[in-house]
Amino acid sequence: MPIEPGAILAARDRLRGRVRRTPLGESRSLTDRLGVPVRLKLEHHQVTGSFKVRGATNAVLALTDPQKARGIVGVSTGNHGRGLAYAAQAAGVRCVICMSSLVPQNKIDGIRALGAEVRIVGDSQDEAQEEVDRLVADDGLTMLPPFDQPDIIAGQGTVGLELVEDLPDLETVLVPLSGGGLIAGVALAVKTARPDARIVGVSMERGAAMIESLRAGRPVFVQEVATLADSLGGGIGLDNRHTFAMVRDLVDETVTLTEDEIADGIRHAYWQDIEIVEGSGAVGLGALLADKVRPTGPTIVLLSGRNIDMTLHHRVVSSNMTPQLG
Ligand SMILES: *Cc1c(COP(=O)(O)O)cnc(C)c1O
Repeated sequence: MPIEPGAILAARDRLRGRVRRTPLGESRSLTDRLGVPVRLKLEHHQVTGSFKVRGATNAVLALTDPQKARGIVGVSTGNHGRGLAYAAQAAGVRCVICMSSLVPQNKIDGIRALGAEVRIVGDSQDEAQEEVDRLVADDGLTMLPPFDQPDIIAGQGTVGLELVEDLPDLETVLVPLSGGGLIAGVALAVKTARPDARIVGVSMERGAAMIESLRAGRPVFVQEVATLADSLGGGIGLDNRHTFAMVRDLVDETVTLTEDEIADGIRHAYWQDIEIVEGSGAVGLGALLADKVRPTGPTIVLLSGRNIDMTLHHRVVSSNMTPQLG
């Protein structure tokens, strides 16, 4: 394993008092429907609205003093960018987030509001990445990637420690899966305490890079397409160093959802559980509702984020139609 369970314990100590320890709620409706206790990890109530601030905070605090003095840089329009901005501001570290000119203004404003410098460069993610490389080479900033980095994985793994503490007899955990930093950390933490627990990764059908890579036996390129689970888009990196192997070795099962099934998850969270959850955060609910995972014992659904455009959320929960994106 690229990271040891001890790294997750160390991350928990670093994060204490800096990010929320989120509650484990219950889903009465899914418990009744499935006949097993179904609990909801309310990680969408995390500061910044997603778990990504855990890995970001752990990674920022793990920097050396000279690295902290020079600052961090990342490329992200979404939850990773927010996590980095928040973590850096809290630690008094400079943070630059690079984005392409295609990014909507509200996302730019959201990251600026957290104190980061936003740099708009070119009109593709690749050009934004070139600016990151320049800032690393010329100004000595440290690039923090969204998932494939040991401190990030360990930080996300602290979610898993909380699951085992709050529900020691857990059997199945459903975890949203993209680059695999979240599920790798959670699986390592949970399986260290409960080796027989079943960890299930859930992605969208459209553009599930990790699942395609697992099938191919190596990281592969997958075309990114518009999806309601937009935080799960993007590749795992052809030069993936950590998460591919960890997911391959620790995750028991993966499932993919249609856009309708993701929308069902968002609607169920809202109407039954009274929670606003983004598409990526609701895929575990969608998987249970679609009977794509059949739990036999105490089950946890990890709700990973809530940063959804509220106009889109309104459209999803107000009808049974799934908005057509892109
Ligand atoms: C990033 C993200 C994920 C996926 O996390 P990975 O570590 O990339 O697998 C899931 N849900 C939300 C809300 C996210 O922002």
